[in-house]
Amino acid sequence: MQNGLNRIDGRIVMVGAGIGGLAAARALALLGAKVTVLEQAPAITEVGAGIQLGPNGTAVMRALGLDQALRDTGTPIGRALVLRNRHGARLARFPMSGLKRPDDYLFVHRADLIKVLEQGARAAGVTIDLGQRITGVRTGTPSDPMAVVETDGKEITAPLVIGADGLHSVTARTLGDRGQPFFTGQVAWRATVPKDPSPTAEVELYMAPGRHLVTYPLRGGTLRNIVAVEERSTWTEESWSRQDDPANLRAAFAQMGDRVQHLLARVETAHIWGLFRHPVAERWHGTGVALMGDAVHPTLPFLAQGACMALEDAWVLAACLAGNSDQNLALAGYQLRRHDRCRRIVDAATRNAWAYHLSGPLALGAHTGMRVLGTLAPQKPIRSFAWLYDHDVTNA
Ligand code: FAD
Repeated sequence: MQNGLNRIDGRIVMVGAGIGGLAAARALALLGAKVTVLEQAPAITEVGAGIQLGPNGTAVMRALGLDQALRDTGTPIGRALVLRNRHGARLARFPMSGLKRPDDYLFVHRADLIKVLEQGARAAGVTIDLGQRITGVRTGTPSDPMAVVETDGKEITAPLVIGADGLHSVTARTLGDRGQPFFTGQVAWRATVPKDPSPTAEVELYMAPGRHLVTYPLRGGTLRNIVAVEERSTWTEESWSRQDDPANLRAAFAQMGDRVQHLLARVETAHIWGLFRHPVAERWHGTGVALMGDAVHPTLPFLAQGACMALEDAWVLAACLAGNSDQNLALAGYQLRRHDRCRRIVDAATRNAWAYHLSGPLALGAHTGMRVLGTLAPQKPIRSFAWLYDHDVTNA
């Protein structure tokens, strides 16, 4: 790593080999730490889904030396956000060119991102122990600052344990109550379809009363990612691995135009998950323990920032540990640098949903407004998120 950071000596145990855990493991190992990642899965495999990496996330991949490896996977560059009504008519096209680093807005297959991060972590000397399910973590005490990780049948101690164990984090429980999540009244399906006949390197967003659908290309246009959100009153589990009959997805979006029907007709496997709102955790560290990623700030997907925030956390956590030899102060500095930014991002994602699902005169008004904006000031909506996308934690 650059920027004149100091060497980190000592052992670090990372819980979770997801996007945040692997990125932080590489960053810390490059700075000299001896990092072991404990992952519950027997193999590092990923769901077949896409994610959007905004320039703020890509900046971290570049600083970790992994940007080119990611682009080599055929990752297309996102050129614009195109808003369409339920019939498919274009309302507005908002180009990414308004950003400082538009070529860093990428459409990535999650499996490709995880693979690049895993290879990067191993190349930096990280040990990844698979099939290790953590059942509990205990913080250290002033007299014995070592933290303890409990796995099935054994305990591991380390001066620093980092919980990168995602949405249902076991590590987070050790730092107290994270507050109750609540069901937003929305569910989301995700699916990919092969060989899209009209690949455009754009995010297409189709809006209809009570639902919207987002789609973009992956792997150089050989795959297309679909995320479809519907409002409903009945609760659905907050799990990323639950499958649903694709017929339910098609039925929910039957009122949309030909393009959407054509895409959904080719869906063979669909996953569904309930969208829950979580408060951003107030406590991100204790003696010998730190949290990152979805373990502290799970977000709704409406700004596509979950992975980007985990990548930003990874860099800032490593930089703070390298910048201060007092671990407690380093961790306090990490939370200070991350908490308010993450809360702002989570709040912005929450606000985005309502505008997509309007009906009747409200929809008419909003769609007219989008048309006018798309004609008169097409760069304005994306530029209003400059605070998010143009921010580069590796330069801060
Ligand atoms: P994860 O990547 O979830 O990793 C957690 C890891 O911890 C997993 O490997 C898990 O197996 C392991 N683990 C959990 N519990 C234990 C335990 N007890 N013991 C050992 N290991 C454990 N984000 C974006 O930025 N842009 C997008 O466009 C986007 N789209 C998404 C689309 C979908 C369909 C989904 C599901 C998510 C999307 N996200 C997106 C969100 C993003 O993927 C997450 O926010 C991100 O993965 C969080 O990273 P993380 O490292 O905190 O957790």
